[in-house]
Amino acid sequence: MRDLTPEDLDGWLRCTDAERLEELWAAADQVRRERVGDEVHLRGLIELSNHCVRSCAYCGIAKEHTDLTRYRMSEAEVLDCARQAREFGYGTVVMQAGEDYGLTREWIAGVVAAIKRDTGLAVTLSLGERPDEDLAAWRSAGADRYLMRFETSNRALYQRIHPDLGRRASDRIEQLRRLRTLGYEIGSGVMVGIPGQTIADLVGDLLTFRDLDLDMIGIGPFLPHPATPLGRAAVALYTDTPDQVPTGELMTYKMVALTRLLCPCANIPSTTALATINKKDGRELGLQRGANVVMPNLTPVQYRAMYEIYPSKACIDETGEQCHACLGGRIRSLGREPGAGAGSALERKHALLTESSQGHQP
Ligand code: SAH
Repeated sequence: MRDLTPEDLDGWLRCTDAERLEELWAAADQVRRERVGDEVHLRGLIELSNHCVRSCAYCGIAKEHTDLTRYRMSEAEVLDCARQAREFGYGTVVMQAGEDYGLTREWIAGVVAAIKRDTGLAVTLSLGERPDEDLAAWRSAGADRYLMRFETSNRALYQRIHPDLGRRASDRIEQLRRLRTLGYEIGSGVMVGIPGQTIADLVGDLLTFRDLDLDMIGIGPFLPHPATPLGRAAVALYTDTPDQVPTGELMTYKMVALTRLLCPCANIPSTTALATINKKDGRELGLQRGANVVMPNLTPVQYRAMYEIYPSKACIDETGEQCHACLGGRIRSLGREPGAGAGSALERKHALLTESSQGHQP
């Protein structure tokens, strides 16, 4: 189970036998327990702006969506969220936004430095494909991690759903490598069930996670948004693609479980998109099938509905306090504990290397 070949991965992704799948869930849960423990790390999510220059065909905040009221949080608002994260005992804040150049290099650098100074929390940025100078400045200001999903490893599909910006070609995999050399911990991930996506593409995604040695891997079901071109065309495109991957929970759990087996030390969130398609216990099932992270939303309630990247997003009208109480309860109901500290995958990998090199000394 731990030495999976591409053929094994393909076989698991096609498997629908509930009894056999129990074996996959159990193997993923065991590796999770052995390698990253029972702690569930909490990353407080701050959705700081819904302005975006991109035209991603799947995304509800793409620039074409003119009916949307656009917002940008103030520095004071972001800092309040970060302080709340610390009060709740979260180890990390994630600052996410559309690709918004109104969030200038200097402004983000200042906010990152202020969060580090005020709270000491780990800071993850998820601000899209910014120039290297921005990424370097934010790292110098104290940012620890960068999160940018490559969405799909199928290049042709990626280009169809994520058009280039002007003449600058979008190559997120290359950018993740550059982020690594800048000293960031790197997070990425994919959507499952994109119209036009095949099982072979998902196998490619899994192998790419391993090749990039990602520290964090987020996997969520594609959710068609009616205000987007891909959302509107989804039904027709699904029937047109041979070997189309279905969107939905089961395929997402399989991807989460296989990712845990291939990348045992990674941080793997049980995503909000999963909680959206199964509001009752999607989050819990993700955590029982390989995931070890959740990302409670700290975005002030007045902005949440405007950051609707897909429809019926879970927790859209809850406050930070409500999300905090609800998630704490869900984690404890599984016999797990909210994690203490930053929960760094990189440190985990280093510790493992030191341990194994000491273990081999005469
Ligand atoms: N601007 C940032 C953040 C994007 S939103 C960036 O581009 O990296 C974060 C993630 O939400 C995206 O990477 C994508 O994987 C997911 N997402 C966007 N639209 C979605 C949809 N319709 N269904 C499911 N997930 C979606």
